[in-house]
Amino acid sequence: MAKIQMKTPLVEMDGDEMTRILWKMIKDELLLPFVDLKTEYYDLGLEEREKTKDKVTYDSAYAAKKYGVAVKCATITPNKQRVEEYNLSEMWKSPNGTIRAILDGTVFRTPIIIDSVKPVVKNWEKPITIARHAYGDVYKATEYRVPGEGKAELVFTDKDGNETFRETVYDFECAGVLQSQYNKDSSIVSFAHSCFRFAIDTKQDLWFSTKDTISKKYDQTFKLIFEEIYERDYKAKFEELGIEYFYTLIDDAVARVIRSRGGYIWACKNYDGDVMSDMVSTAFGSLAMMTSVLVSPDGQFEYEAAHGTVTRHYYRYLKGEETSTNPMATIYAWSGALRKRGELDELPELCDFADKLEKACIKTLDSGVMTKDLVGLVSEGYTVKAVNSADFIAEIRKNLEQML
Ligand code: NAP
Ligand code: MG
Repeated sequence: MAKIQMKTPLVEMDGDEMTRILWKMIKDELLLPFVDLKTEYYDLGLEEREKTKDKVTYDSAYAAKKYGVAVKCATITPNKQRVEEYNLSEMWKSPNGTIRAILDGTVFRTPIIIDSVKPVVKNWEKPITIARHAYGDVYKATEYRVPGEGKAELVFTDKDGNETFRETVYDFECAGVLQSQYNKDSSIVSFAHSCFRFAIDTKQDLWFSTKDTISKKYDQTFKLIFEEIYERDYKAKFEELGIEYFYTLIDDAVARVIRSRGGYIWACKNYDGDVMSDMVSTAFGSLAMMTSVLVSPDGQFEYEAAHGTVTRHYYRYLKGEETSTNPMATIYAWSGALRKRGELDELPELCDFADKLEKACIKTLDSGVMTKDLVGLVSEGYTVKAVNSADFIAEIRKNLEQML
């Protein structure tokens, strides 16, 4: 069989530990035999980040901006312990943070659903994708532990030094706490564009929720910016595709989500997205089955797994022990990126290969062959067999070869 050809290269961002091992296995077994893989390779493994003083991370993000599609392996975000372990000259910043800042994107997380693992919420039939606005609010708040009696005020001084706003927050008669939050129109606008674009890209409804009835300026601003951008830039396209933009209060959204059948994108403010994404991913099953894509407001895409480098498994692997690490989310990062590349370059065979690769994964799991993490989640009545990562990937390859 002739290999499937590519036009534009994918930006390939390699990573660390167990996921780096899986990365190579996936390429060798599931991609290189079938696709004439064209990538521009960046090694974001911690050693290379140290060697290049983190320049490689920046270069990879600029390449993603240039080519439009990237696929990323999980990477270590150094902490104090990692600085010692890898003898680092600096505690390099999170690569995901750096890439997100350069692409100005929003992260969308979607679970991979299989028949034998039923979501905790019985009526969820299709994935629910969470979009979290990862900027500002409580994550960048200024806080103060109020020691006792006194007055708290909110003050704004414009760039010419004129005080244009002053309001009493509270006249404290005793000790208490104080917090101030901010966000920026530019960031909310980018968030909105990424959400509308991703809804169009995946042909799914977009839900957005805040608490604008209580927060009449702060949350209201989010609501109005989304509304305005929708009306101006996306309404016609949504109508053409038969998809819907739907705004509701966060508490109403929570109730509707639980009663829904799934199959839409739920855009959330920063804190709501933090909390709800953990709830949704747990209810769907496993972090190992959660895919993630960063979408920039101008339509660049970076695909990855939502989980980390699976350190505990890697240490076992280094001791020569067998590991059963789930490669699904990393395989889906590749299939997502190849499909997107295929769409942009008008290469239907490449899109078709991505579809078949995912189908081969699902077929493998539906046949009961799975990694250990999933075995405990399987509903009664299914017969399953736990295998190691290499055997799992070999089984996917067998199923893929039958489909091609
Ligand atoms: P993690 O790598 O996601 O793993 C946490 C635990 O979840 C694992 O020990 C494992 O549980 C289970 N798990 C996660 N993915 C799995 C998979 N594919 N197959 C089977 N089990 C899986 O999170 P972490 O241990 O907190 O972080 C490890 C490193 O990853 C850190 O250095 C962190 O900085 C980095 N990280 C990177 C990213 C990213 O690049 N996007 C995201 C998060 C974390 P058991 O051990 O019980 O089997
Ligand atoms: Mg969280």
